Formats: sequence, structure tokens, C-alpha cells
Amino acid sequence: MADSQASPSFPSPAHHDAVVVGAGFAGLYALHRLRGLGLSVRCLDAASGVGGTWFWNRYPGARCDVESMDYSYSFSPELEQEWVWTERYPAQPEILRYLEHVADRFDLRRDIRLETRLTRAVFDERDPGWDLTTDRGGPLRARFLVMATGCLSTARVPDLPGLDSFQGATYHTGHWPHEGVDFRARRVGVIGTGSSGTQAIPLIAAQAAHTTVFQRTANFSLPARNRPLDPAEQRALKARYREHRAMVRYSPNGTGRRNNDQSALEVSPEARRAEYEARWQEGGGGFIGAFNDLLADERANDTAADFIRSKIRDIVHDPAVAELLVPRGFPVGSKRVTVDTGYYATYNRDNVTLVDVDSSPIEKIVPTGVRTADATYELDSIVFATGFDAITGAVLAVDIRGRGGRSLREKWAAGPRTYLGLATAGFPNLFLITGPGSPSVISNMVVSIEQHVDWIADLLHHARHGGMVCAEADEGAEDTWVAHVNEVADRTLFPRGASWYTGANVPGKPRVFMPYVGGVGTYRRHCESIAERGYPGFRFLPGA
Ligand code: NAP
Repeated sequence: MADSQASPSFPSPAHHDAVVVGAGFAGLYALHRLRGLGLSVRCLDAASGVGGTWFWNRYPGARCDVESMDYSYSFSPELEQEWVWTERYPAQPEILRYLEHVADRFDLRRDIRLETRLTRAVFDERDPGWDLTTDRGGPLRARFLVMATGCLSTARVPDLPGLDSFQGATYHTGHWPHEGVDFRARRVGVIGTGSSGTQAIPLIAAQAAHTTVFQRTANFSLPARNRPLDPAEQRALKARYREHRAMVRYSPNGTGRRNNDQSALEVSPEARRAEYEARWQEGGGGFIGAFNDLLADERANDTAADFIRSKIRDIVHDPAVAELLVPRGFPVGSKRVTVDTGYYATYNRDNVTLVDVDSSPIEKIVPTGVRTADATYELDSIVFATGFDAITGAVLAVDIRGRGGRSLREKWAAGPRTYLGLATAGFPNLFLITGPGSPSVISNMVVSIEQHVDWIADLLHHARHGGMVCAEADEGAEDTWVAHVNEVADRTLFPRGASWYTGANVPGKPRVFMPYVGGVGTYRRHCESIAERGYPGFRFLPGA
């Protein structure tokens, strides 16, 4: 890995055309693309290696729920032809190897400063640009600041009383030890049953002496049906990769998913069940594309939810445990559907206990384990699969000050406000990759990342050719976009789930449905039309 690249400090003072924060999928491509414009670019990342989310999330079973051939860059036809994926869904080590390969292949590392966390960014109105402070000091100055900080990068451990008193080991899935963890002979508690928990639990249970799962909300989980990628299948897709990539860019969610354009309510119950069964057998998130109204009509959604509930009851032998695992009270898909391998069947093991901490909440962590309202569970290790301060967490972790010294935290106190999810009024020359108000987490992130980076690169090219040094989103355009994002979300069932999409998982966080759910293709066309029309909604200013 690249620890040796971490430099002790920046030369002082350092000026760059752009500073990109984050060296994951978004930051690496932003660095490559902006450098290609002839800009001087510096990329910062707090980690000791590149990879972003795939650097940190090394828990057992960590795997992407978008298929490998789609969850990869499209910007280089040579890269996409030469890289060989081994599985239908890529596991964390393979994705990390891919990103390290990209960093080397495009000679990105020379402009990346690792183990360097941006802590403060202050906009200079006299000479438009950002004065930056990092935990390695400063000053560092950039004309443009690009936050490629990821939507799920600020891990959250709940504030449980007694946490520090625990005598065993604690882990968070999003900060997993690089050397791995040996759970043999240990009594392990796992708190959380979202995507990370449902992936990790089967593997932890297969190794540990005993695994106790603390579940607050039962989630809808679909079988991944992961398998080795057949070389012939891979070659066939590569033969038409350009055409495939062009298609997914304008698809609803940025993948090659097959969407059925029928209502779940217009077909017979038998036909409906057959469609669900076929998709359940096929595996993966494509289940949600079974009908066109699953996320728009509650009655349609109920049919899908009931199908999954019946599968859970079929798989889990103990009826009482099955009933605890059956999700209730929110539409399927309104919280992120998880994609697993053997999750429900894990509860048939003798060494697994499911504890319902909705009816009997965790009261405290005690030196020997977890105490709920009803009982104390003795544990050697606790795994927190408790998620992230999503979408806004990493951006707001930096003290960002725009025009007049106004803080972004203050501006977004009632929820994030952006124009297109790309920029925010009052904070000129600041760009967000997959920010709130863009398809981001409702899409294949890599497709959305490439679209945002390309769009920002085109805007910077436009500004430079016009002799402009400052680009700022207009408040009116932002208000219109925020209203549109809300209006589109309100036409769906998405806001009905108390999920991290709405900030509901973080106590005190404003409840706002953050992603744009109008579709990847629709959003892309809208952004393209704005660029073609000379960027209405942005104000450009020339240099002094
Ligand atoms: P998450 O979906 O937010 O799940 C967190 C879990 O922890 C939930 O079950 C939550 O329960 C529980 N929890 C939080 N605080 C708790 C407390 N105080 N007591 C008891 N339970 C508590 O987080 P995640 O599983 O890390 O996933 C986050 C996102 O990352 C995913 O939705 C996905 O987008 C992405 N991800 C993707 C993959 C993949 O591609 N396969 C894998 C991992 C993560 P409640 O539901 O009741 O709040």
C-alpha cells in the first residue's frame, strides 16, 4: 500500500487550481479528469491508502451489491477491457485492488497526500479561492474545492452508556482492522442489521463460538446469488461494453437492471408471483425492478413485501425467530434493501441468537457485554454494524466557511440545500461529487460519480475559457431545485422509511429526504441541458 507516500507537511504556501478531498472512486477520477484539463490538482485523503469506502470497509463479507461489470469506471475503454473481474458481485479486496491499479495506471499517486484530513476551508472573497487547513497544518490554497468525500464515510457508533467500560474488543464495520479479526472461540455480539450487518453476520456466525444479533429494525434482504463470473459471459459484455455503458448512463439507476414496465396490480396474482420468484432466483437488487410501481403505490409495494416475508418464513425454521425477522411498518425499498448470502438461514444455526432490541432496547454496555431492558448478554467482542452519518456527514465534518464567513453547517442546519447536488449558494467554487439532491446513493455510485466529475470538469473548462475564476450557484436556482427534489420524492414511497436517506438514523439530524429519485437518465439529461444552455443557475465572475 501507499503509506510511504504520506508527506510530512505541505510546502508553504501551496497554490493549486483544485484540491480534491477523498481518494475513493470519486476523488481518483476527479484528480485524473481535472489534471487532464491541464489544472494543477492536489488530492487529500485521511486514510493511509487510496480506495475510500473500500479502504475502510474490510469486514467479513464486505461486497458491493452492484454487479462488477457495472460497478467500474467507464472513462477508459482500455481499462474496462483489460481488467478482469472474478465474481458477479465484487468483494472488497478485489475492488480495492482495482482502485489501486487505477491509481498506478493513471499515475495518480504523485498528486495524492494520504493521512491528511481537511479540517477547515475558508472562502477568500478578494481573490476567489479556498484557504485550506489540514490536520497536517497548512496553508494550502485552491481556486476550486471538490468534495469527493463519499456518502457513507463517516462511521457512527451509537452513544450507548457504558461503552468505554466494555472489557472485550469492539469493532465498527466501517473501520475494520486491516489484519482481520479472528472470532474463533469468541462470543460475538453484532449490533445492526443493515447492509453491513446482513453481509457480516453469516461469516461471523460461521467462525465464532456464539453470535448474538441485536436487531432493532428487521430489514428486507434479497439473496445475492453471487457466483464466479463466467469468462465467456464477461467477454460477451466486453464486446459491447461501450454500447452497454451508454445505455446505463441513461437508465433509471445506472445499472443494466431489467425493469418491467408493468404495474404489479395489472397482472394476475400468479403472474406477479412468478415474476417475483424469477427475480428472487436471479438474485440481487433487480427484484425492485419487477414492476414499475413498487416504489410509487403502497398496494403494489405490499405484494412485493408479502412475497419476501413469505420467503423469510420458508427459510427460517423457528417460527418465532422468523416473525422477528419479518420486516414491518415501512415499504420495501424505502429503506435500502440489503443483498446477502445466507443471511436468513444463519438463524437456523444453533450458535446464533436473535435479540429484538426494538421491544427491549439496549440500555447500556456493561464490562462483560450488552444489557437490554430484559437481560444481559455476555460477550467477548461487539461488532457495531450501525452505519454512517450519511450523505452530509463527511462534508459537514469540515468547517467550511463561504461568503461572509458563513458556515455550511449553519446553512444546512435544517437540511442540505444544493443546486443539482453539485454546488451550494454562498459557497463559490465549491463542488460536491454525488451531493445531496443528486441521484447518489439511489444509483450505481460509479456512474453518478463519473457524470458529476465530467460535468464539473466541463464547467471549469467553460469558466476558464471565459476568463472567469469564480462560479457560484444562484440561490433562486437552488430553491427551485430543492423544491423539485422534494416534490419528486413525495410522489414516491421513499420518504416513508425511517432511514439514513432521510437522516433518521442520527439523533438530532434534520429529517430531509436527501437523494434525488427522479432517475439517473432524467437527471443526467437535465444537467446536460444546463451545460448546453451556458449554465443557467450559476453566476460566473472574472478575475481581478
Ligand atoms: P445502516 O443501513 O444504517 O444499518 C445500521 C443498522 O444499525 C440498522 O439495522 C440500525 O437499526 C442499527 N442501529 C443503529 N443504531 C442502533 C442502536 N443504537 N441500537 C440498535 N441498533 C442500531 O448501515 P450499514 O449496514 O452500514 O449500511 C449503510 C449503507 O452502506 C447501506 O445502506 C448501503 O448503501 C451501503 N453498504 C452497501 C453494501 C453493499 O454494497 N452490499 C454493504 C454495506 C453497506 P435501525 O434500522 O432501527 O436504525
